Amino acid sequence: MSATPSVWGAATIAEIVPRTARVTSFILAPETPFAFRAGQHVDVRLTAPDGYQARRSYSIASAPEAPDTIELAIERLENGEVSQFFHEVAAIGDAIELRGPIGGHFVWSVDDGGPLLLIGAGSGAAPLMAMIRHRTARGSLEPTLLILASRTWDDALFRDELIALHDRRDGFDLVLATSRDRPRRPGDHGRRIDAAMAAEALGRLPRPPAHVFVCGSNAFVETATDALLADGVAASIIRTERYGG
Ligand SMILES: Cc1cc2nc3c(=O)[nH]c(=O)nc-3n(C[C@H](O)[C@H](O)[C@H](O)COP(=O)(O)OP(=O)(O)OC[C@H]3O[C@@H](n4cnc5c(N)ncnc54)[C@H](O)[C@@H]3O)c2cc1C
Repeated sequence: MSATPSVWGAATIAEIVPRTARVTSFILAPETPFAFRAGQHVDVRLTAPDGYQARRSYSIASAPEAPDTIELAIERLENGEVSQFFHEVAAIGDAIELRGPIGGHFVWSVDDGGPLLLIGAGSGAAPLMAMIRHRTARGSLEPTLLILASRTWDDALFRDELIALHDRRDGFDLVLATSRDRPRRPGDHGRRIDAAMAAEALGRLPRPPAHVFVCGSNAFVETATDALLADGVAASIIRTERYGG
């Protein structure tokens, strides 16, 4: 069933899964499940007793193949109105308002082919995770490389699931880049993303990428995109999603 994106619907918090010290996943069960594509997001609307409303966008981190629930991986921001609500107030069984799916640009399906280069930082891993889970659910062997930037090893969102997928050696490669931690795996980096790191990642793909997706804060997206352009990646194949900050 497909919901009209402009229509708000109810969803129940079915599960709450802490992922890292700063990011927790909220598994939502929409009253009317809707089909979506990997990379799309939803809008969430909170209404206070006095009628005040706050609305924010959150990427869907789960695969389209399981549409009855959607996973939102929400990072706690200091003094963040909506993210603090989720981390401190929201409980299993609570109802929230949801609108979606939204977005037709930052999306990928196995039918679009590859190779795929994904670059994310912090909670910016969420829509890239939906693409990777979709690839796995569909049994795709499309060459795919994810550079996941985080402060520390423990801040790397979905780290253990991603390492397990990397270890299947089915064409998915994970590179972790930790800005405040030492690299732990061969091929990982203990620094921020730069042109040399992007060039090395490009060299690990069997062919140049057909699609590149970059997601994170404004500053991160700028830096990663500059690195890709410096390495000769065509701007026309780079798609970005900016979370603010
Ligand atoms: C398409 C889209 C998808 C998104 N998906 C996700 C997601 O999957 N997970 C997620 O955690 N967030 C995601 N965001 C960001 C989210 O919409 C909110 O902006 C974020 O949760 C902050 O809202 P808040 O009410 O907690 O903070 P606010 O009260 O709005 O802001 C608090 C302070 O934090 C600053 N700020 C806002 N966003 C950021 C940021 N990303 N990094 C650093 N500082 C920031 C603001 O400038 C402000 O000073 C997405 C944004 C977009 C546009």
